[in-house]
Amino acid sequence: MTTSSVLAGLDRVRGWQEEFYRDLHAHPELSHQERRTAQRVTQRLRHAGYELHEGIGGTGVVGVLSNGTGPTVLLRADMDALPVREDTGLPYASTVTAADAEGDQVPVAHACGHDVHVSCLLGAAQLLADDRDAWHGTVVALFQPAEETGDGARGMLDDGLAERIPTPDVALAQHVLPAPAGHVGTLAGPVLSAADSMRITVHGRGAHGSMPQAAVDPVVLASMIVIRLQTIVSREIPPGQTAVLTVGSLRAGRKSNVIPDRAVLELNVRTYSDTTRDGILEAIRRIVTAECQASGCPRDPEFELFDRFPLTSNDPDVTARVAGAFGEFFGDRAGPLEQQTASEDFSDIPTALGVPYTYWGIGGIDAKTYQRAQEAGRVSQDIPVNHSPGFAPVIQPTLDTGTQALLAAALAWLAR
Ligand code: ZN
Ligand code: ZN
Repeated sequence: MTTSSVLAGLDRVRGWQEEFYRDLHAHPELSHQERRTAQRVTQRLRHAGYELHEGIGGTGVVGVLSNGTGPTVLLRADMDALPVREDTGLPYASTVTAADAEGDQVPVAHACGHDVHVSCLLGAAQLLADDRDAWHGTVVALFQPAEETGDGARGMLDDGLAERIPTPDVALAQHVLPAPAGHVGTLAGPVLSAADSMRITVHGRGAHGSMPQAAVDPVVLASMIVIRLQTIVSREIPPGQTAVLTVGSLRAGRKSNVIPDRAVLELNVRTYSDTTRDGILEAIRRIVTAECQASGCPRDPEFELFDRFPLTSNDPDVTARVAGAFGEFFGDRAGPLEQQTASEDFSDIPTALGVPYTYWGIGGIDAKTYQRAQEAGRVSQDIPVNHSPGFAPVIQPTLDTGTQALLAAALAWLAR
């Protein structure tokens, strides 16, 4: 079978791929600062014979490899790291610090495993370039900046991505997860939540703490709002649907005997359908505006949306095709993926290009370690999750599996 001829080449790339991964892991870069990573990606893609598009949306890199007529498959990897101090004890652990967007010096680590995604996609890109007799069509290998800030994909689109690359027939992406390494999981439909953060400023009237009659107290108002917002999920969302609304920050006043003139609330919403999302955001505005009116606020409240991530909802046909390819290649190491509460901006790209997509998970935890934790009922205590200081996938079989998954999925469209 042609798929296996491409995959058989894995032994040739494994050496440099592991070295590339360790180097990337030790040199993580924050969102929008992925300059060294992009440069290293560019070098490898050029070496593999890809046509290069650099600096898209800042540090984004796209390699295109045309190999006759046939489908066009977009494969995406994200490149950025997080302001986390790595605590893995690995010989290639990061000790890097960098200035963040606010100018503060922060520790930086690949605590989300995007170094895995980059290394796997480069390996897959090389193997496809090495065995052009086995497939036909076009491969678009897309390396995206700033996934963690939710604006990297949009940045590439705003910078003319659609005009600079061939329009794909399908878009594919993956994420390493706290699951047994060697395993892959797929799920049709909503797989990752949409996320929206909102900053709400309510305006009261300040006064002496002993003279409440002269004030419109924003502390009482904000408290009412926090409680009333809890009724959105419990009273307005159908019981069969899932949503989360968390008020994570509430700030008002500085002194016990001063009624302040404003309060600022910051909240986060997670949803699995656009209807639910729109409904919740609308309900928040309605409740806050009405509570402000009820309190007699001198000014209307202000709403500001930020850190927004789209819903990731896998196309059923594309997912079935990929799941079939995984079942054939991985056997019982392929299975269903649970719906995740995390969010991603990958889907912004296929949505803007008008193409179907699927997004799957690969395990990154040593299978025996995971099994021991599972038997002891201690998975949530003992297995570090993405974004935690202890999260670092085992190099193998994680890199092999991620590379094989990309190839098996891409070849489901491209194989001769
Ligand atoms: Zn992350
Ligand atoms: Zn991530």
